[in-house]
Amino acid sequence: MKPVIALVGRPNVGKSTLFNQLTKSRDALVADLPGLTRDRKYGDACVEGKSFIVIDTGGIGESEQGIDAPMAEQSRLAIEEAEIVLFLVDARAGLTPADIQIATELRALSKQVHLVVNKIDGIQEEVALADFHRLGFGELHGIAASHGRGVTQMIETVLAPFPEDEEVVEDPESGIKIAIVGRPNVGKSTLVNRLLGEDRVVVYDMPGTTRDSIYIPYERQGQRYTLIDTAGVRRRGRINESVEKFSVIKTLQAVKDAHVVVMVMDAHESIVDQDLNLLGFVLETGRALVIAINKWDGMTDYERQTLRNDMQRRFDFLPYVKIHLISAKHGTGVGDLYPSIRRAYDSAMIRVPTSRLNQLLADAVEQHQPPLVSGRRIKLRFCHMGGHNPPLFVIHGNQTESVPKDYKRYLENVFRKALKLQGTPVHLEFKTSD
Ligand code: GDP
Ligand code: GDP
Repeated sequence: MKPVIALVGRPNVGKSTLFNQLTKSRDALVADLPGLTRDRKYGDACVEGKSFIVIDTGGIGESEQGIDAPMAEQSRLAIEEAEIVLFLVDARAGLTPADIQIATELRALSKQVHLVVNKIDGIQEEVALADFHRLGFGELHGIAASHGRGVTQMIETVLAPFPEDEEVVEDPESGIKIAIVGRPNVGKSTLVNRLLGEDRVVVYDMPGTTRDSIYIPYERQGQRYTLIDTAGVRRRGRINESVEKFSVIKTLQAVKDAHVVVMVMDAHESIVDQDLNLLGFVLETGRALVIAINKWDGMTDYERQTLRNDMQRRFDFLPYVKIHLISAKHGTGVGDLYPSIRRAYDSAMIRVPTSRLNQLLADAVEQHQPPLVSGRRIKLRFCHMGGHNPPLFVIHGNQTESVPKDYKRYLENVFRKALKLQGTPVHLEFKTSD
């Protein structure tokens, strides 16, 4: 399991700047999406061979600014669950009463907190840091998040107790790993019960547990699956026993560990920040995705048509993702999820021979040449696969750093169409070899 780092601090100390620094090398798709980036709070990051999940908790200590209570509650839960808390303060502003208040709250949690003093660029570091020793968190980490200064070293220090990433060894027995995620009350538990309750399903006896999520292996029509149950359905003894607290971290870990994410949303509610933040995280990790709009029952034809149009518009930036309208309660449309899950899995795990990819690339270039850059044409020569889940296509040529965005989109579409990739993002990496 990846360690989780929570960024905490009052507004304007530089939390989102640090967040962006840590996650910057990731999928450009997320950065392209207006509405997702602004509110994006969960990130997938890797520094010096160690990957981790980073959460910008945003809300703490902002009470006078009236941020909405459920998000603040989510922030607090995230902090409680995180392994590492980075408490950010602003070297230029000096120690403020709000910092002292946050420090008190963090001490009450009795967890490991690292004090990070940001914006040390262009000022005398020693003087700037002196003030903050009073907070009593031991060693101070001076950084300039907007310049990237000190960031790698700080992360290395705080992650020192954690091992480097290991090669993931897939257990062939687990089949297709599906994470059912979504915010509270959208119907995750109902869907899990529906999926496992089908006649055709054989649920195996030995669920595994990792960090609170339960892994339920089962078989359906000869195919093995493992359901990652973030809602904790299987742990509840009786149906009406209280539902476990929704856990952001449980959800993020499940996404990272899945092959295919089924994101559940409620047809009767509008899409909120929490949905978009989670969606942003799923896109960033590159996981295959199927969207299930639940509670489709009991709607009039007019409401259904309106919803269908609305969803099409909202998700038109994700043309490769299948959107299903389901009723977990009545079972309508639930079985139809499987072909989409299967297709997304096959697409995410695809292996394509290099000769085929070279041919595809050559054809694509012939159809539509890359542009000239300062009088020289960009040349794209070879292509091979660099990884899967999501599929990564590595393209070699010259001046590849100048390949424009729309040409990358064009190539992505060529690969998508030719290889029939659905439900998974596609990553392209360019390498210049002259
Ligand atoms: P947040 O509210 O804690 O997320 O803070 P932001 O990341 O939005 O940063 C608040 C302001 O501080 C922005 O104008 C940033 O450009 C600026 N800022 C962030 N990091 C640094 C830094 O290392 N040095 C300087 N000089 N400014 C920074
Ligand atoms: P979770 O918190 O995401 O696990 O959500 P639950 O599965 O506990 O469902 C929350 C509420 O929505 C419960 O009262 C369910 O009965 C109800 N619900 C779930 N699926 C459906 C559905 O398809 N239609 C309707 N009308 N209600 C549903």
